[in-house]
Order: sequence, then C-alpha cells, then structure tokens
Amino acid sequence: MINKKRLVNTFKKLVKIDSLSLKEGKIVKHLKKELKTLGLRPYEAGKPKDGEVGNLIADFPGKGPRIILNAHVDTVSPGKNIKPVERGNRIYPAGKTILGADDKTGVAVILEVLKVIKKNKLPHPAIRVIFTVAEEIGIVGAKVLPKNLLKADFGITLDHGSVQKIINQAPSQVNFTATIFGRSAHAGIHPEDGINAIKVAAIAISKMKFGRIDKETTSNIGVIKGGKATNIVPDKVEIKGEARSHDRVKMWCQLRHMQIVLMRTCAKYKAKVKITANKVYNSFEVKKKCKVVKLAFSAIKKAGYKPRLMPSGGGSDANIFNAAGVPTLNMGVGMHRVHTAREYADVNEMVAGAEIVINLIAECAK
Ligand code: ZN
Ligand code: CA
Repeated sequence: MINKKRLVNTFKKLVKIDSLSLKEGKIVKHLKKELKTLGLRPYEAGKPKDGEVGNLIADFPGKGPRIILNAHVDTVSPGKNIKPVERGNRIYPAGKTILGADDKTGVAVILEVLKVIKKNKLPHPAIRVIFTVAEEIGIVGAKVLPKNLLKADFGITLDHGSVQKIINQAPSQVNFTATIFGRSAHAGIHPEDGINAIKVAAIAISKMKFGRIDKETTSNIGVIKGGKATNIVPDKVEIKGEARSHDRVKMWCQLRHMQIVLMRTCAKYKAKVKITANKVYNSFEVKKKCKVVKLAFSAIKKAGYKPRLMPSGGGSDANIFNAAGVPTLNMGVGMHRVHTAREYADVNEMVAGAEIVINLIAECAK
C-alpha cells in the first residue's frame, strides 16, 4: 500500500525547503497546500514568540478513538540549501549541511499515511495531525499549543531512527546560565588588582562532576564565553550547561551540585556569580500495559520487526503531549546520525515506519 517512490519524493521535496527553527514560514505554507490537496482543512495554532508561523494542525475525522500523529517541521543548523542525494537505500545531504531527516522523515511518513488512507478508503480513527515548529530549540512549538488541542486517547510522535524501537520514556531537562563577574585590570601593569573570571570559571568547572552521572542522569557544560583581549584581566565569563534525568529529583540535585560548586568557588576567589535556570521539559513514562504500547508492538511485528521499548536521553514533542495527559510514544522513521553532516534517511525504514503507522491505525479502526 505504501508508495515508496512517492514517499521518497515527498521527503526530498521537504528537505529542500529551508526550515530552521522559528523560520518555518515556507514549509508550513507548503504543508498547508499538501494537506488541502488531501481534502483537509489545516490551521495554525500556537505561535512561538519570534517565530514566523505557528504549529500546523489538521483534523481527519473518523470513527473510534482519537489519535494524534505528530512530527516537527523545523531543523537545526546548518540547514540551508540542503540538497538530498540518494545512495543505495539511503538519502544523504550533498554538501556540508545536515539532511533534515530529523524530522522530515516523520513529516513525509505522516503525509504518506494520509494519502494511503484516502486512496484506499481505509477505515480509520479520528486523527489529529500536529506538525510542530521550533522543536529543536527546546520543544517550544509544542509548549505553546493550546491545551484544548491536546485531547486524544493516545499519540504517536515520529521523531527518531530505528523502527523497531519504541521510546516510551524520556528525561526531564533543566538548562542554566551562570555569569561569573571578576574584576578587570591591565594584565601587564597591575594584574594583582584584577579578579580573573576565566580562571575562576575554569576552577569551578574542574571541580564539577558532569557527563554521565548515573544510568538515568546526564549533565553537560556546553558553552563558555568571556574575555576581551590578552592584556585585560577578564571580568566576565558566561557558562551554559544542562542536567537531564529520568528521575526529576536527581536532575534538580545535579543542578544544585553545579550551582554550589560555582558559588563556593566564586566566594573563594572574591568573584560574583549570577545563575539562572529554566526547566525545558518534564520526564514521562508510558507504561508497558498501556493500550498504545500494545498497539505499537503488534503494528511493528506485523511489519516484520522485533519491537523493543527504550528510554531516550533526549526530549521530544512527546514530553509535552504526555504532560498534557495524552499517552504518547515516540516511534522510529529511519533518521540516523541526526544533527550532523553525516545524517541520513534510511528509505526502507521510512517505508516500514509508514507501514507501521498504517498497521496501528487499521488496528484502532477495528
Ligand atoms: Zn527531532
Ligand atoms: Ca533533533
């Protein structure tokens, strides 16, 4: 039933449309047109601050449970002028950009599923398609979705690689920015008058534990910025980091640990520090006994794969849908090595991903 050629063409067309986070105007316009061709009435809902457009919603009325099908339309950088090239069963970016298989494999699969349902007049449940914007910058689009749109029996987010893996757990995440204030001085004439913010930052960071903390907790220092010239004792350094855990308490403990090290080190060297933290999203777990897990298992088996539940180290729109009370799984659609110039889409897995969603929908319609 899945038309492989059509699916590949849809995907290639999508990756050629630039859609960096908050700059999704062109792709949303394109998708509106596609959805209208399918007889749906797409509408925008929830627009991020500074975004060009809002999330794109389309309701496909049907019988039985109400399900959400979701993928995000934005990509990370470098994501401009992407040229997809097919090599065997894979699609790669031609240049030094990412491919945008994250998450245009998901978008293409949803469009293919809708086309298959229409063309074959398949019985189906009520489907709400939610194409989100600004996912890559902290699930921003999903966060500003009007809550009344997040009413469904369950949801399927299509936003990872291997089709046999079902992500039913994701961590909480908190980001922080610490600004260390030292004191500037001429580095050659009277360095003793200065307080070197770079040195204080370096000492603090060297005393922190981060990386993999335990089985369910990770942490990172990802950005450090500061200093003006070699002859000035730097008076300001900015550090950005994060902590994630499947256990919320552990996440906050890790953040606290980093804050304490920063405050103690700054106090010792007479520097000042300002720390701001913001929670990016809450963790979730869809239990094994949940109906959507059973549906996903049988849909994957029917497609010839061996299903497996997996926790993820990252967040996705599924975090927000689960927080709103819609049990949502993140399922695979063949994207690999995402966020790199070696990113690729596995065509067979995209086809299988579409088949799995069709299987799941058919099962719901029974
Ligand atoms: Zn993604
Ligand atoms: Ca991503």
